Amino acid sequence: MEFKNDKYRKSRGGRSRFLDIRCRKCDKHICVYQKDGPGNLRRMYVDRINKPAVSILKKELVCPNGHLLAVKAMYEKEKRFAFRLFVDAVTKKIIKK
Ligand SMILES: [Zn+2]
Repeated sequence: MEFKNDKYRKSRGGRSRFLDIRCRKCDKHICVYQKDGPGNLRRMYVDRINKPAVSILKKELVCPNGHLLAVKAMYEKEKRFAFRLFVDAVTKKIIKK
């Protein structure tokens, strides 16, 4: 898996990492996420989600056991769809940087 390298990555300083994203309640794998730049993970841009274990086409992001994790919304500044994560809904572990 390679990092997507585009204007969004560059605008965040050009550093990225892959995160293993899991449901905090049940530890089910959700996806591998490319996080660009520093800061907490508050939203997951749809175009940075790799290998999703659940549907990312719906409005809500739900783990395989039915826990609601995030809601999709347009990030207006960039006209990019993102899932806004609920606080402490997921765990993340760096798998590549
Ligand atoms: Zn769950």
